Amino acid sequence: MTNYQFNIHQILNKIREQGAKIVGLQFPEGLKVHATELAHKIEDETGAMVLISGDPCYGACDLSDNVMEGMVDLLVHFGHTPLPIDYKVPTLFVEAHYQLESMEILKEALKFLEGKKKIGLVTTTQHLHFLEDAAHFLEENGMEVLMKAGVGTLPGQVLGCNFSSVQDLPVDAFLYMGSGNFHPLGIKLSTQKPVIIADPYLNQARNIDEFTDRILRIRFARITRAKEANKFGILISSKEGQCRWELAKDLKKMIYNEGKEAYLIFMNEINPPSLLPYMDLDAFIVTACPRIAIDDSKMYKKPLLTPQELEIVLGRREWEDYEMDEIKY
Ligand code: SF4
Repeated sequence: MTNYQFNIHQILNKIREQGAKIVGLQFPEGLKVHATELAHKIEDETGAMVLISGDPCYGACDLSDNVMEGMVDLLVHFGHTPLPIDYKVPTLFVEAHYQLESMEILKEALKFLEGKKKIGLVTTTQHLHFLEDAAHFLEENGMEVLMKAGVGTLPGQVLGCNFSSVQDLPVDAFLYMGSGNFHPLGIKLSTQKPVIIADPYLNQARNIDEFTDRILRIRFARITRAKEANKFGILISSKEGQCRWELAKDLKKMIYNEGKEAYLIFMNEINPPSLLPYMDLDAFIVTACPRIAIDDSKMYKKPLLTPQELEIVLGRREWEDYEMDEIKY
């Protein structure tokens, strides 16, 4: 089992309150190990029947509500907070709290924040419950902590496609609590401020700078290669919260105006096998989740670009104005 905790009473109460007879459960990959145990508890305690979604799930942009519509009375979605999307079945969002063992990781991060007074505290959904304790810890160490809500996000919360909670925050540096480098990279590129990572999974504090340089070098190489492309594929997601149809049509026109070819391709899962049939295309633009082009780039033979990177390829944006792609709900 993992270090995550759920509020099971919240789920049982909601099922009873709503008189739900059939309940759908949806988890991101890392939490699926809890599925059968939770299903057993729900069926045992409420008499409702449970349907577990076995499909991959990446965020609140990617609910099973459209496929489970008409099958379940209530969908319980774990690990993400709701987005401003019109969900098709009543949905309960249950936060999955990662249990941090101690403040040790924050003590480690303090070494990187020397001389900084105003700190922007940022995290992802699974550590939101820890923000208050972390803020107290920083304040006890003489720092001022600033957080704000973003568009569709809670104070201090970022998504891989939404950095609005850190933009225009008047701080000297950001402290990001969580795993991986993608979110801190987005914070860095959105704000140009120092970003320190307190990673509870690796039990390590680090500066994002080294990673930023490496990723930007890779992005520069992909953009340079795509400048030779004549035929582009524009990938549009059928996941409700990732579908940017208007943007895709605009990009097609933009490419066409440069005398090049562009084809609109609509799909649910973007992965290397799903692009294999389009061998005649030279590069792809991802209008779906912004993480795909950056995080998964090495898995693809052809360049995968974000819409902003396409603008650089076509000479409509300077490399110096590089921006992360964000989904504006
Ligand atoms: S689009 Fe990507 S980053 Fe945004 S919520 Fe969905 S999975 Fe997360």
